Amino acid sequence: MSVRTTQTKIELFRRFFTGLLHVYGTYDTASQRAHQIKAPVTDAVILAHLQGRQFYGVYLLVKNKIRAIAADFDDNDVSAPMEFVSAARVYDIPAHIERSKSKGYHVWIFFDGDGVLASKARLVVYRILAEIEKPRTEVFPKQDSLNTSVTYGNFINAPLFGAMVPNERTVFVDPFDPSKVHPDQWAFLEGINRVTEQLLDDVIEVNDLRGPTQLSSDREPTPSADVRCYGLPPCARTMLADGVAANQRVACFRLAVGLKRAGLPFDSALAVLSDWATRNRPLNGKKNITKHEVTAQAACAYDKAYRACGCEDPAIQPFCDSTCRINKSATREHPVREALS
Ligand code: SF4
Repeated sequence: MSVRTTQTKIELFRRFFTGLLHVYGTYDTASQRAHQIKAPVTDAVILAHLQGRQFYGVYLLVKNKIRAIAADFDDNDVSAPMEFVSAARVYDIPAHIERSKSKGYHVWIFFDGDGVLASKARLVVYRILAEIEKPRTEVFPKQDSLNTSVTYGNFINAPLFGAMVPNERTVFVDPFDPSKVHPDQWAFLEGINRVTEQLLDDVIEVNDLRGPTQLSSDREPTPSADVRCYGLPPCARTMLADGVAANQRVACFRLAVGLKRAGLPFDSALAVLSDWATRNRPLNGKKNITKHEVTAQAACAYDKAYRACGCEDPAIQPFCDSTCRINKSATREHPVREALS
């Protein structure tokens, strides 16, 4: 077994849990409060964390890039993190479960080189969360890029806080049997395969998540631009772009289901739908769908296991496009409703 010096451990730790270098977060166990510290992330800061004297919370987002992303499963049911790891593996993405400090789990994915665009990583992670029916899970970082209104983003407590490691908290566990902690956390970190940006590109392209040209830009996305090529079926794209004149609540619900299937987090879907509602031009003097109604429809779509696009719904049919691949596969082999359920 190799003997690692303290400095070796600090350097290894930094290769995984580094983001902004001039600010970090911490958590005071006595007051149970988290706060920010505007000071350099020195080796002493990392050492204090590893020795269990002061928590180090990492701000993962640097401009628009990240070297790690984490999904925060906030309860003690480990089945969802395990499902996440399995679903990620289908895309050839290694994901790693950390038992967090008090309850719940963080699932981490680590990236190659200088990092990848956060927008791509978040898109893929939300896709996986949608697949396991946990679209409202918190993801760190919470933004695609820092900008004038997001100076730091949000920090997440880093693993391996020395005071909790002996209690098997803040440690990485076996994804097949999460009751088992990896016996050598440092050897575990050394063996991790990092995900390349090329792999994210492939996942995005194969699954038609979004046009790659949009992703390579540094622009701050607006909600409506963000979903233009989001793998939504043609009917949803038309409804989103042009608004609807009738059946606003049904259209809103179906759009929300489509956005959930596409992997958009609930808050982003709500922003998209609120923006969409302003483009509606209801007939016969009717009023636009209200914000409250938009929220109710979106919550219904996200909270339950709805998956169908509503191809047979009279409210959706006027927007159907015969070139849609869902349409083709449905008419070739199955009844539409069956193909989409
Ligand atoms: S087949 Fe269904 S999903 Fe495709 S455009 Fe028509 S209504 Fe939309």
